[in-house]
Amino acid sequence: MRSDGRKNDELRKIEAKVGVISSADGSAYFKIGNTAVVAAVYGPRELHPKHLQDPEKSVLRCYYNMTTFSVPERKSPSPGRREIELSTAIKRALEPTIFIEEFPRTAIDVYTYVLEADAGTRCASICAASMALADAGIPMRDLVSAVAAGKVKDQIVLDLTKEEEDTEPCTDVPIAYMPNKKWITLIQLDGEVTAEELREIIKLGIKGCLQIYEIQKKALKKKYVRI
Ligand code: UDP
Repeated sequence: MRSDGRKNDELRKIEAKVGVISSADGSAYFKIGNTAVVAAVYGPRELHPKHLQDPEKSVLRCYYNMTTFSVPERKSPSPGRREIELSTAIKRALEPTIFIEEFPRTAIDVYTYVLEADAGTRCASICAASMALADAGIPMRDLVSAVAAGKVKDQIVLDLTKEEEDTEPCTDVPIAYMPNKKWITLIQLDGEVTAEELREIIKLGIKGCLQIYEIQKKALKKKYVRI
């Protein structure tokens, strides 16, 4: 039993909603446990300055940020090395799903803001961003679902909290997944595990992604399908 009472293969409680920012072309809110993210998408829109344009495809730009009040110790609002790295990771996780070649010379801008952080913010950002891209009507191969799995002491667990991430030893593996295509679009590993353990962690992460996928689809349908 984990300290928050979950089983090893259990996700935290999830809330998901699309269309939360009226001025954006697409937007979404995604909360998993005490990690909450809002995402806003603008585009495809003409990219300026022109020398940044790609005549073959749209340029996907992702901006990850944490609000100053998202963690107990005030977070500086200026993006540091971590934010730049996570923005790149989020871009890599999302790019395979978008038909970027359909929108040459444009930019698609994806902003994710962490409102509350209790680990798993890059994965929550990917979940929110892919819902916001769909809400913006951008042609996509699939939604991207993401969650971390890992090893805390000797246990393989799904969806780690900050308390679990801070436990020694801990290995954290964020995974982003496109269920239709069965493509893993992001996998990172912080810590040490055997090849066999890693296989088990990936399997568990994908199982978590599939559950998140259903919640993402339900949130989108809630806005667009009249039942
Ligand atoms: N965190 C923090 N202050 C920071 C950055 C991170 O308290 O400046 C916490 C926050 O809870 C975050 C966690 O550390 O979710 C883990 O951060 P990490 O860089 O591993 O990324 P994440 O797991 O959020 O994707």
